Amino acid sequence: MMMRNISIKVESGTRITEADASWLYRNAELGELGRLANRVNLRKNGNAVFYNINRHINPTNICALSCKFCAYSKKPGEAGGYAYEIDEMLVKAGEAVQQGATELHMVGGLHPRWNFQRYVDMISAMHKAYPEVHLKAFTAVELDWMARRAKKTIAEVMLELRDAGLGSFPGGGAEIFHAEVRDVICDTKVSGDQWIETHRTAHNLGIRSNCTMLYGHIENYDHRVDHMRRLRDLQDETGGFNVFIPLAFQPFQNEMGINRYTFGADDLRTIAVARLYLDNFKHIKSYWVMLGQDIAQLALQFGANDLDGTVVEEKISHAAGGRAGMIMTRNNLENLIRRSGRIPVERTTLYSPVHDHDLTHLTPIKNSEIDNQMSPDKAASLRELLLALENGDTTTPSGLWKVAMQAPLHEVTAALDAANHSTKQGQTLIESVTVKVDSSQSVGPFTAALRQALIQAESHVLNDAGHALTIVLDASELMKPMPMAEYVAATKSVSPASSIVLRGAASILATANSLGQKTTETLVDLRRAGLDVIEEATSDKNLSNSDKWLVFGCAQPAEIAVIPLITLKSLTNAPDWSTWADDVTEIRTRLATNALIYGVAFRVADNDLIMPCEYMKALALTRLALPSTVKIWTPITGMSVLAPLRGLGADHTMHPVMKLVSAARAFGSASLGFVSATEHHLERLCEDLRASGAAPRLMCPRQHDRSFSSQLLSNLSSLRHAP
Ligand code: SF4
Repeated sequence: MMMRNISIKVESGTRITEADASWLYRNAELGELGRLANRVNLRKNGNAVFYNINRHINPTNICALSCKFCAYSKKPGEAGGYAYEIDEMLVKAGEAVQQGATELHMVGGLHPRWNFQRYVDMISAMHKAYPEVHLKAFTAVELDWMARRAKKTIAEVMLELRDAGLGSFPGGGAEIFHAEVRDVICDTKVSGDQWIETHRTAHNLGIRSNCTMLYGHIENYDHRVDHMRRLRDLQDETGGFNVFIPLAFQPFQNEMGINRYTFGADDLRTIAVARLYLDNFKHIKSYWVMLGQDIAQLALQFGANDLDGTVVEEKISHAAGGRAGMIMTRNNLENLIRRSGRIPVERTTLYSPVHDHDLTHLTPIKNSEIDNQMSPDKAASLRELLLALENGDTTTPSGLWKVAMQAPLHEVTAALDAANHSTKQGQTLIESVTVKVDSSQSVGPFTAALRQALIQAESHVLNDAGHALTIVLDASELMKPMPMAEYVAATKSVSPASSIVLRGAASILATANSLGQKTTETLVDLRRAGLDVIEEATSDKNLSNSDKWLVFGCAQPAEIAVIPLITLKSLTNAPDWSTWADDVTEIRTRLATNALIYGVAFRVADNDLIMPCEYMKALALTRLALPSTVKIWTPITGMSVLAPLRGLGADHTMHPVMKLVSAARAFGSASLGFVSATEHHLERLCEDLRASGAAPRLMCPRQHDRSFSSQLLSNLSSLRHAP
């Protein structure tokens, strides 16, 4: 009801209140929130997403202050301190200009030996050398420092800098305005009121500025909303802000003992709430340097319309653990934007398109046009197909392919919400614990290694007393056939209460062949030995589809459950939706013929480029296309290959995968599947999941023996019409 009221307000152009914004932070479904924020953004900015060609230059890290969250600053004489000469800065600026930069962004520490004239000279020299480049420099904190040292007013300092060539202020130093937080994290810095007053002065002098908010440390949602309220009030008064930039906290080397990155779901929520609450801001930035390229791309679907720029050299957030790299090329930026379904537009610092021909992309889109972006026919058939998925009705591969090709991400999440499939904040995220065993050795050493692995694993699951482990025998890379039943039996004798999973369907075929048995006979032997589940391995892609389903089909009478894999592959510039549709249809068909499917693992092909937006859409569609009782797993190792800059040396996502895990929950993932107790630091993982609002629960198939079969059988009844 509350969401409906807020939606009505937003759609009718009525301003939402602080209480509304707090409610959205705490209660809104992420998909629904993103959809609303996306509509508002389309109404303001059309399909365009801005980026610019810029370079950061941080003149010095030597600083008179000691903000507790700052990993960048050094005291005079301290190792690692630096202070650029103006000539050095000119060289860096020259390189940037050569590469097409239209903006230089300069912020740094408060150097105790630099007087105001030094700053004026710096700006003046840069402006004289490169008059066409916009100089965006100095936070309210630096301006206050200059004014105090020069015994001038802030207005006098600003005017001198402007006369020397400064163009605008970047908006740093805002952190969180509320004194409850500010007094703890940066009590020696200008107060929240002073920050606001400094920007009011700038705007009244005709100098525009940006504004920021550092979130994800000790503040709560109310502090964030209070921060945005003060910015919204000043924007009402002056209209002088260009853009709002939420800055995700980077957790290294701070004095607050925080060692956790912000979660992707929180990043996306913050962007969306900002878009809805800051109704007098045209631009909301998805700052890739701090979000990481993966979440930054997703944020373009949650209300952001600016990705920032090429950056080149950024020292402040990287000192604090920023892992997103320091440079993106024009191609990288444009590719990220295009593959999120938007149109890249290069902008100036003050948010005009650099190229006149881009003006058309900036045309706001009306509500009625947003609703009808597709032709009525297409929209109708898409709605029909989504409805068919929601209802579990017959869907052909070509129908699935059509939905995947045509449905925007938000249509899919809308259908997901309508089907009550999206995993709400606070809902249980199911875990399992894996002990990975190398089964290429003979049974004696194998058993000894298994005992050792169990001792290690159990020390990682102490918090869950009585939990039975799932033991995964990883036979995916088996070089020669081996009597698998002996290994399963040995495992059973070492740990009778555990569930036993065999990873690798190909190994079962190889075993059957080497023993001269039928596949069914091998599987019956394996079941007798204690095998519970067969998990498809990524290496099983070398098997033909019919061989794979031969193994899975024979598992059914032996009462062994299976975990098939859906692998999202890429074509040149898009996911291979056709193969995905075939895989999903195959699983739907097997479910309808009583296959014991314990879960479906959703992965990205190892060497393919799949963008985060595409991954989340495919995940949500997979969730929709399968009955709600089938768990969709997003294995951690699968998510780490979502690297939007793949091909440029970034083979893995740069930030911890928990950033993506928390977002994937909103798109239908209920489980991380089998998580290695020893390799993935289970306790930390569970802590992170709890901190992200999920309730991790350790689970293994045998613990649920009684409900296991009935749960699997209920999969079948939820497919009302078999394809
Ligand atoms: S945040 Fe800025 S003012 Fe504070 S210590 Fe770091 S460099 Fe200095």
